[in-house]
Parts: sequence; structure tokens; C-alpha cells
Amino acid sequence: MAWRCSGPTNEALIENLTRNGLITQPRVKRAMLLVDRAHYAPHSPYEDSPQPIGHRATISAPHMHAAACESLLPFLHPGARVLDIGSGSGYLTHVLAELVRPGGRVVGVEHVQALVEMGEGNAGKSGEGRGLLEGGEMRFVRGDGRLGWEGEGPYDAIHVGAAAKGFHQALVDQLRAPGRLFMPVEEGHMQHIYVIDKKEDGTVTRTKEMGVRYVPLTDAPTD
Ligand code: SAH
Repeated sequence: MAWRCSGPTNEALIENLTRNGLITQPRVKRAMLLVDRAHYAPHSPYEDSPQPIGHRATISAPHMHAAACESLLPFLHPGARVLDIGSGSGYLTHVLAELVRPGGRVVGVEHVQALVEMGEGNAGKSGEGRGLLEGGEMRFVRGDGRLGWEGEGPYDAIHVGAAAKGFHQALVDQLRAPGRLFMPVEEGHMQHIYVIDKKEDGTVTRTKEMGVRYVPLTDAPTD
């Protein structure tokens, strides 16, 4: 996919993702056009591939960010509450915050303090990002994302940006009914995206989607 969707500018990248059917929803396209990946990826920001950001983390590939937004979109309405676990660069946290304006709140949970600060610093590089931070519509907190974040719940949508070893019950508990959780889960040597829906009556369903490659959702590194 990388060779088809990469581009010389943020706009070209988003246009190529749209042309190739990886972005289908106009709201997702608009939000991704508003957030310049160059503020978040230190190298090759407009390539459709993951890029290292230090601290054993990567900014995920643009087509995976698009897939997450497209999947969560029915729950990303103005005023929605959203959790972005393993926020890393902060890119997706910012895109999600654009998608729930006005009145929404997005919390990025990250267990490496330096990355909490990096996400906040990256978001502060644009006027839109600074506005969202100052208004409390987007914030970055340090915590173990496997436990979710009690502060702002229940959440209409939860995104997990690192591969989990199982289906963490705390995350399902913190979902609103209705609400949706998008997470990569490790299965042997493979990882798959699972979409977990909590219906209005509280019923929970799980759908297995594409095979993926994410960094693991783990204990915080000690070195
Ligand atoms: N969505 C981010 C992905 C960053 S990589 C982006 O596209 O930029 C995954 C991130 O998950 C890393 O930053 C890593 O530090 C973080 N992470 C891993 N385990 C975690 C945990 N238990 N709690 C919170 N963050 C975690």
C-alpha cells in the first residue's frame, strides 16, 4: 500500500488514500487533511508506512489511522467522549479530537512520560492543536492503558494503538452503551484488529478484522 498512497505533501497523501479506497468517509478525509502528519512523524511523514518516534514506539501507518477513524466514525459525533490508548506521537488523538468537535473530549493515554510530552508538544505545533489543548477537548495523560482511564468515561469510542494480549475487561467496562472499541489483539505470532461493540442493551459483540503489525501493549519500559 505504501507505494500507492505516499505523496509529497499531507494533502497528496490523503488524496491518494481516498483514491485507493482507504478513506471513504468525507468526515474522516476532512479531519486527516486538517492534521499535518509532519507535526507528528519525525521522518518521511507523508509515506504510507509506520515510522519510528523513539522509546520503542512508532507512529502507525496512515492507512491504519484511516481504518481506525472509519471504523469508529459512527460513534464520533460532536460532544463524544473518546479514549486513545498508546497515544504515542499524538497524531490520532488530534484527528479524533477534530472528529468530535464541538464539545467532544479525547484523552490520549500513554505509559512513557517522554511520549506524553511528545504528543502534547506535537499537538501544540498547530493553532488548531493548541486550541484543542487549551479548551481541554484534547489531553494527554500518563497511565497504563490496559486499565483504560476512568476520568472521562464512559466512552463512545476507544482506540487502542498497541497490540493487546487479551480483551481487557476494563476497556469494555468503560465503553458507553452504545459504544465501540477498536483494538489490535495478539494471537500466537499473529495480530488482528478486533472491533468490539457494546449495544444499547449492554450486549457485547466481537468482530475479527484484518491482520496487522503493531508494537505490543505492555508494562512500561524500565530502562
Ligand atoms: N497511535 C500511536 C501509536 C504509537 S505506538 C501513533 O500512531 O503515534 C504504541 C504506543 O503504545 C507506544 O507509544 C507505547 O509506548 C504505548 N503503550 C504500550 N503499552 C502501553 C500501555 N500499557 N499503556 C499505555 N501506553 C502503552
